[in-house]
Amino acid sequence: MSLAGDYDSANIFAKILRGEAPCVKIFEDDNVLAFMDIFPQSQGHCLVIPKDTTARNLMEFPADRLGVLFAAVQKLSNAVVKALSCDGVIVTQFNGAPAGQTVFHLHVHVIPRFANLPLQPHHGGKPADMAVLREQASRIAAAL
Ligand code: AMP
Repeated sequence: MSLAGDYDSANIFAKILRGEAPCVKIFEDDNVLAFMDIFPQSQGHCLVIPKDTTARNLMEFPADRLGVLFAAVQKLSNAVVKALSCDGVIVTQFNGAPAGQTVFHLHVHVIPRFANLPLQPHHGGKPADMAVLREQASRIAAAL
């Protein structure tokens, strides 16, 4: 699937939002859910997804909801810096398979960077230890 196509309500993030698949949650409110990426590119790699949408990518998302989504991204980025004492933060998102998108529900990556640690490639991360993810999520949540 690329830029053109219909929203697939069986995508993994839709299942997470419906409670049909698990996630390591950091926070949620009426508008967004933030959770840990299970194939992290770095320690603390997390994702923010909007609720109540069938936008597969940035271009399909209503412009008047972008502020709320990116306010949550900023809030999560601040918490990541505070909780993990990282040296930088990558905020990114991918639109369409040729751009690297694999899950077709709009999402934003928040990826902490540490000065002396390499960044794993997008889709090159190893499956995370769930206990480690839960510990990181609770530290990030405590820093919100
Ligand atoms: P993208 O390639 O931009 O579509 O990003 C999808 C991201 O979702 C990747 O970084 C995956 O590691 C991550 N991912 C896939 N399935 C799950 C899941 N069940 N829970 C958390 N993260 C996931």
